[in-house]
Amino acid sequence: MDLPVDEWKSYILQKWSLLPKSIQVTISTAETLHDLFLHSSPLLQPEDEMFLKRLSGGYLVGKDPDASLFYREKGNQKFQAKDYMGAAVLYSKGVSHSGPSSTDISLCYANRSAALFHLGQYEICLKDIVRAQTHGYPERLQPKLLLRKAECLVTLGRPQEASQTVTDLESSFAAKPTLSASQFQILQRTLCRVKVKVQEKENLPEIFPEALTKTFEGVDLREENEQIPGASSSVSLHIDPLKGRYLVATKDILPGELLVKEDAFVSVLNPGEVPLRPRGLESKWDIQVTNGDLHCHRCLRHTLAPVPCDGCSYAKYCSQECMQQAWDRYHSVECSLGALLLTLGVFCHVALRSTLLARFEDVGKVTKKLCGEMSNQGICLPESKNPVQTLKYDLGGEGDKKDKAVETPIPGCDINGKYERNYNAIFHLLPHTENHSPEHKFLCALSVSALCRQLEAAGLQAFTTDLKPTKLKAAEPPVLCAELSVWGVAMLRHMLQLQCNAQAITTIQQTGSKESLITDTRRVRLATALFPVVSLLNHSCSPNTSVSFIGTIATIRASQLIRSGQEILHCYGPHESRMGVAERRQKLRSQYFFDCDCPPCEREKQRPSAGPGRGAFRCHRCRALLQGDDVLSCSGPACMESVSRDLLVSRLQDLQRQVGAAQKHLRNGRLEVAIQLLLGCQSDAESFLSAEHSVVGEIEDALAQAYAALDLPLFAGDWEKSATHLQKSLQVVEVHHGPSSVEMGHELFKLAQVFFNGCAVPEALKTIQKAEKVLLVHYGPWNDEIRELQKMKSCLLDLLPIPVGPKE
Ligand SMILES: [Zn+2]
Ligand SMILES: [Zn+2]
Ligand SMILES: [Zn+2]
Ligand SMILES: [Zn+2]
Repeated sequence: MDLPVDEWKSYILQKWSLLPKSIQVTISTAETLHDLFLHSSPLLQPEDEMFLKRLSGGYLVGKDPDASLFYREKGNQKFQAKDYMGAAVLYSKGVSHSGPSSTDISLCYANRSAALFHLGQYEICLKDIVRAQTHGYPERLQPKLLLRKAECLVTLGRPQEASQTVTDLESSFAAKPTLSASQFQILQRTLCRVKVKVQEKENLPEIFPEALTKTFEGVDLREENEQIPGASSSVSLHIDPLKGRYLVATKDILPGELLVKEDAFVSVLNPGEVPLRPRGLESKWDIQVTNGDLHCHRCLRHTLAPVPCDGCSYAKYCSQECMQQAWDRYHSVECSLGALLLTLGVFCHVALRSTLLARFEDVGKVTKKLCGEMSNQGICLPESKNPVQTLKYDLGGEGDKKDKAVETPIPGCDINGKYERNYNAIFHLLPHTENHSPEHKFLCALSVSALCRQLEAAGLQAFTTDLKPTKLKAAEPPVLCAELSVWGVAMLRHMLQLQCNAQAITTIQQTGSKESLITDTRRVRLATALFPVVSLLNHSCSPNTSVSFIGTIATIRASQLIRSGQEILHCYGPHESRMGVAERRQKLRSQYFFDCDCPPCEREKQRPSAGPGRGAFRCHRCRALLQGDDVLSCSGPACMESVSRDLLVSRLQDLQRQVGAAQKHLRNGRLEVAIQLLLGCQSDAESFLSAEHSVVGEIEDALAQAYAALDLPLFAGDWEKSATHLQKSLQVVEVHHGPSSVEMGHELFKLAQVFFNGCAVPEALKTIQKAEKVLLVHYGPWNDEIRELQKMKSCLLDLLPIPVGPKE
């Protein structure tokens, strides 16, 4: 997804292998990105471009009225089946494929408003009604729409507007009797109902919709750092020839303290698995739902009612404002390149968008950056000679270092030593040019070249027109003077930087079936972004912070006590609880080009058996742990059992396959089948896995979900069984992730839901308190799960019976 599609990758790799040795050597040994680009770019032949064009032709990114009709009909089917969520998403797809101000688009908006109405989403329902009307919703269908509007307004407690709508409706009935007698009757009956409701509510004060009063309480930095905007004053920036730039605590930091709150400099929504259009008409349009259907392409907010770009079916936004901003800042250039960008991958897209955003910064700096620095010193210098390596500079001003003369600022900082969250900071992230393989560099260079040629074909003026005529006007001449190759080199630099510096923006997605009383959550990747301040943190396989996201804003909180002077660390992905030291080190080396020497890595190197997955098998005879490498033998005192690791591993794989199958049944609501399978898995697991094995935890967790979803008379699921299994799952999570881990928080949240639904008041309150405590550290108060817990708590406190003392 980040890199170009496989077909293009293998095409370029083949091209590389066919190059004459001498050219391969020239490219491999190019000292600068500028040279690399200049040597590679001319090798992109017209036939290569044709090949790429054919590949991108597989993505449906334009408008297509037939697709609009197709999705509307599919949506209607879901609507009839009362799957309003599914219907809303399909109508959204229909909206994206219709041209602006067409009957198609107005019908899709109107139908979506009906689905949203049934989902209780009255605010956005009203918006869709307005959208349907502005795009020319047919006159004869208006009454239905107006009635829906009145009902929404009533429900939202806005009776004055509702009664105005009713008056409009009545006068339009009188003026244009376009309806059949039976339709008219139905409408009149509904109208009466609404009128009654309007009268009931007429005297109530207007209520503000909750959405408008939501604030970002509790997610602000207590005191902002003067040198690093977006970071807390409890940290300072340091640089070291080995570690590069890093952050250190300047005072003791308590768990839960917010250390960084930063909006992404650039982010690109990961499209999810956008399937290439298969051959054959039957399945020409897919009805699969991806991230791109449910999140704003600019601010990443979740939305059930996106508005599409007028020019493509691909870009969708939460609001007109987001659409306009995206258009002004980058989409006016990207719009016609949608298919190409999907083919070339998210990194290429982020690279393009970064350079597009650079236009909006101080003209002098950007020009210097793009025209000057790049061809003179900056990236023309080989990385090894980069002054970064020899810099010794301390911003924190700790004791004895204080009086050291400041010669050159830390890369990314301005002359006053202030780290700027801008293109300058992005530009200074290390591309690690010397570490990438020549093939990879060639792939990136040719992908960027292809993009440049398309930009050229689309007309360079695209870079400068459509800019709002404020201060940006001044950006035109220097940008125009810059040759496209300068943009190319900048994009190539960003593409290479991204491998080490890209931050995945993740979101918690609920995956449980709708019937289930507990929500199962899964962390999914939403976007790829660059965060200048977050990028300053180094990696640890056992980090002392926790990162989470609100839209495009990253927040980093201390997940444990951090003493003054300790480094602030976060995990780049390979966490000690998820993989063993060998796998972690291999991942970090191949993606980030360093050997991790964090404490868990050092510890596990000494004692490889300490890692996860080791010591996880046990003897089927006496249940004692099995020990050893290739052949494991029982550690039980009187047992002679031994077994090969290969055999155990293949047994484990079989078991995992079965658990996967059971989880699939669970997701599809086939609960009895799932439970039978899971109980089988459970006894199988017991015979050869330790009780703390993560697969055992998964089985228990799935069983808990299945029991919670069971439709038993009188009971809200079989909550007692569900709770028992969740408690077992919790034990496993605690062993693997620790008692105050975010994983523990999510599992406690589920347990709280189960107790809540079972009306087990004291247990529920206790669990809610625990879950809240853990989740607060990782997310702060602005978090859906925490809000949910608080609602449960207040509900339970209302329920609590008044203690009755002995009578008389
Ligand atoms: Zn948005
Ligand atoms: Zn567009
Ligand atoms: Zn490590
Ligand atoms: Zn044994």
